[in-house]
Amino acid sequence: MNSVLRIHGRIGPRTLLITTAALPLAGWTAHVVALHKRLAATKRDPLTGLLRRDTYTARARRLLSRHGDDTAVIMIDADKFKAVNDRLGHAAGDTVLAAIAARLTAWAGPLAAVGRLGGDEFAVVLELSTDRRAQRLEQLVRMLHTPVPLDDGRTVDVAASVGAATPDVLGTRDLTALQRAADAALYDGKHSGRAHLATASHATTPSVNGRRAGRSGTAVWGRAA
Ligand code: GH3
Ligand code: MG
Repeated sequence: MNSVLRIHGRIGPRTLLITTAALPLAGWTAHVVALHKRLAATKRDPLTGLLRRDTYTARARRLLSRHGDDTAVIMIDADKFKAVNDRLGHAAGDTVLAAIAARLTAWAGPLAAVGRLGGDEFAVVLELSTDRRAQRLEQLVRMLHTPVPLDDGRTVDVAASVGAATPDVLGTRDLTALQRAADAALYDGKHSGRAHLATASHATTPSVNGRRAGRSGTAVWGRAA
């Protein structure tokens, strides 16, 4: 009884004033947190949780200007992905896309820009020094060729093609140019099971029906097809 009285005794006008002021503040804070969450959701692809193109592009450009030659731009496209949808259904296809996204995020780390550009196409921009390039790209290829478990206990064999472009080889820090070259290298190595590094010729060769003409002499890393 005494203790209750003592507590009541401590709630003076000053405490009441603070409490009265804090209540609307708490409401306002919750509102701001909700707004932030909604804004963050608009920046991400709902299926994979990866950045949408605009947000990915802004972050990728910041990484390129900050790290220069120690940056890599990597394009990824799932191999024969339509067959996964056709054989196992769209939901299984969605699971595979989400698994690819999770693997890219784990591989690239929290500071990288990892985006879903559309369909089964992804892009990663990250700080990557020249001496670690081959080993890291090999690791990425291995991760992308690991079977994906489905909710019903089955697993799906998966594969993806990888093209990489770097400012030191291409002589530019322009994201669009590097992505174009990485994409050309990807299509040079499509279905090969290896990562292909773009050369200067990949930046200039015209595309054939949206896909690049093949060429030789590209550095490759990863498992054989
Ligand atoms: P390739 O080996 O040459 O890359 O061919 P592919 O079969 O992987 O097909 P392609 O890359 O040309 O097309 C991607 C397909 O991905 C087309 C579309 O049916 C499917 N797709 C696009 N978005 C989604 C999605 O959100 N979920 C699912 N399940 N499938 C999707
Ligand atoms: Mg594909």
